[in-house]
Amino acid sequence: MGRRPLPPEDGRIMDITCANCDHIYPPDGLLYRCPTCGGLYDFRNPLPFDPAQVDRSQPGIWRYRHTFGLSMDFEPVSLGEGSTPLVWAKVLGRKVAFKCEFLNPSGSFKDRGSVVISAWLQSRCIREAIEDSSGNAGASFSAYATRAGIKARIFVPESASGPKRRQIEAYGAELKPIPGSRAEAAEAVRMEADEGIAYASHAYLPFNIPGYATAAYEIFEQLDDKMPGAIILPVGQGGLLLGLARGFSALRIATNIKKNIPKIVGVQASACAPLWAMYKVGDAEAGLLTKTPTLAEGVRVRTPLRGEKVLREVAVSHGYMCVVEEHEILPGREALSRLGFYVEPTSAIVWSALVQTIHQLPDPIVVILTGSGYKYE
Ligand SMILES: [Zn+2]
Repeated sequence: MGRRPLPPEDGRIMDITCANCDHIYPPDGLLYRCPTCGGLYDFRNPLPFDPAQVDRSQPGIWRYRHTFGLSMDFEPVSLGEGSTPLVWAKVLGRKVAFKCEFLNPSGSFKDRGSVVISAWLQSRCIREAIEDSSGNAGASFSAYATRAGIKARIFVPESASGPKRRQIEAYGAELKPIPGSRAEAAEAVRMEADEGIAYASHAYLPFNIPGYATAAYEIFEQLDDKMPGAIILPVGQGGLLLGLARGFSALRIATNIKKNIPKIVGVQASACAPLWAMYKVGDAEAGLLTKTPTLAEGVRVRTPLRGEKVLREVAVSHGYMCVVEEHEILPGREALSRLGFYVEPTSAIVWSALVQTIHQLPDPIVVILTGSGYKYE
């Protein structure tokens, strides 16, 4: 303590504003929502991706540090996140690329976001933080918090899988199981956050979105500087979808590619598919589809905070929202396993969506495999 927060690079902090009332994100502390109106903070402008500023001497996502809005003159923690393989396989006669995000250090794509959130905490000298999670975000944040010397407390729904809970505790974070659903865990954590403890939320904070965008830059490079035709991924809050969409948009601007960004196919489980419902039948029906438990606990988000922005990106990309029935999830997981990809049920919902949409999608199709099968028992 006592050290002044490091200045953000190029006044990028001015670019983070309340999406509702334009309140500028304060230069210290870690507000999770606007104190004036309760709105969400977000980056006001497109991500400033610049091929000339990509630092190839750095590992993984840190090559793209110039897009994070962080100060350049401090050393963030890193566990080697990013640079995940893009692996090709034949599906229904087509060559499809699988981006193996489950190979990130804590076993999920969340590491790309957690490490950037941890860096913001580090840069603001914050030593204690809370987070709520169905498992992956909590495990991921715990890994980076322990590395950065930040005391973490993670609120999880009691239903969160055993391996994820053990992983959170193994990193040394304090686990707070909350009876009820994900929404109850979120409510419990907000009550503490409103008392002033830093809330390192993957849902409220915008800092992880440029982290997720790095997957788009990597995919572009792995396709020999080409845009995918389509991209398929699971959607809960939709942070990864926003990151990928913004990453591809930034690439399009930076490289002068005339082609549209890839068609985005967002996938939800039918037990909790509010974004699919909004996409398909309009807002009013959304509440009818969110009542039952699902194997895809990682995308069981009743009210995605940036839902409208997520759907706008899907529409701009000329993509779709897909829904997967509960009985399709485990066969999808088996089909992926037979290709050599061992993922958790939440990740496996992409399989059925791929089979549903493959004939409508242009090449190359990229499927994002978000979380490791080791996290499921
Ligand atoms: Zn506001």
